[in-house]
Amino acid sequence: MRMKTFSIGSHCIGQDAFTIIAGPCSIESFEQFQTIVNFLKQEGVHFIRGGIFKPRTNPKDFQGLREKAFPIVKELKKQTDFLFVTEISDCRQLDSLMDITDVFQIGARNMYNYELLKELGKINRPVLLKRSFSASIKEWLMAGEYVRQGGNDRIILCERGIRTFETAYRNTYDINAVIHLQKMSPYPVFVDPSHATGLSFMVSPAAQSALTAGAQGLLVEVHNEPEKALSDGAQALSLNQMSQLMKDLKKLSQALSKSFS
Ligand code: PEP
Ligand code: MN
Repeated sequence: MRMKTFSIGSHCIGQDAFTIIAGPCSIESFEQFQTIVNFLKQEGVHFIRGGIFKPRTNPKDFQGLREKAFPIVKELKKQTDFLFVTEISDCRQLDSLMDITDVFQIGARNMYNYELLKELGKINRPVLLKRSFSASIKEWLMAGEYVRQGGNDRIILCERGIRTFETAYRNTYDINAVIHLQKMSPYPVFVDPSHATGLSFMVSPAAQSALTAGAQGLLVEVHNEPEKALSDGAQALSLNQMSQLMKDLKKLSQALSKSFS
């Protein structure tokens, strides 16, 4: 199947590109997000993620800054040029998120939220569609179909690990899905090695294997102080670790004759 390529801003997503999206699991404060954004821009990362509405398993855990994050993102976008990727978890967030969001992330918990997917089908903004915990490839592609039917075909599939019997790590990274979808789906496939493993020491090797397996990009969690992170600290790369990963990916992409953006 021929892979769709499309542009987001001045960046090409798809077949011949390998695109990095990186940033904190959650935006926690202006200073935290500013530090991470400035660091990533220096590293050549143009797509920055940052959770605003956080879907947490425990309702007592940090739920994201929610509306309080909007002025932080607005101000930083004024200071620095970057494309912002964030999760939308409810249709009621759409209007306000449209102001600041360049790519809408659908989280694993919402892959089956068909009304939300239909709403995203109506807008002219790319959608990064994460695989649900136990979704088959078919269910995942059908979720994408809900977006496409509305007229929006700028869809990125994101493998973020699935649930298996294994409990040594947070999820099982299904690299088969990455390989399979290269042939069986028209959409670019990204890998989220952070949620797919849950352990920071596994993130870089998992990220590099995504490039080798033919993925079109990555979604990576990075934090300036992982041990103090309000969500997903155990899987966050420190700034030094992220810097090293960028170097390793550049070398690997040269060895594989792939373009790296
Ligand atoms: C996230 O990206 O921070 C997240 C909550 O991911 P997922 O929906 O894959 O669990
Ligand atoms: Mn996270």
